[in-house]
Amino acid sequence: MMTIKDVDPRARCDNKRFKICDFIPILEDETMIAERCGMCGRKIHFNKKDGKYDNKLYGQLHIRSFLQPYGSMKGLFEEIHGMQGVERATESLKKKEAADQRMKDMPDVFKEKYREVKRYYDRHPNGNII
Ligand SMILES: [Zn+2]
Repeated sequence: MMTIKDVDPRARCDNKRFKICDFIPILEDETMIAERCGMCGRKIHFNKKDGKYDNKLYGQLHIRSFLQPYGSMKGLFEEIHGMQGVERATESLKKKEAADQRMKDMPDVFKEKYREVKRYYDRHPNGNII
């Protein structure tokens, strides 16, 4: 089970409430990407090679975004988001799985129509029924 001690030291946030940094890109070009933690202000940068950065390093430093409320990351997820966060995430995961299953069970002929309507409401959340 992962704990905060397994997190790359560069991603451990100086803001003790948040524990793990939340890096947001501030500058990017073909050679590098610079990011800043929105919670403690720490800056990091990755050099790019052939226009790409090191995925493994990127994953380690952005572990906050990749946390899962189950499996080996469950403990760390709970440390960061609390037990309530685990319950919330588990609940929304269950809802998503149920929605995925409903989509799977739907006859093909309805699937495209369903996606079309969903796209419409994603773009127009307050749209009228058409
Ligand atoms: Zn931070």
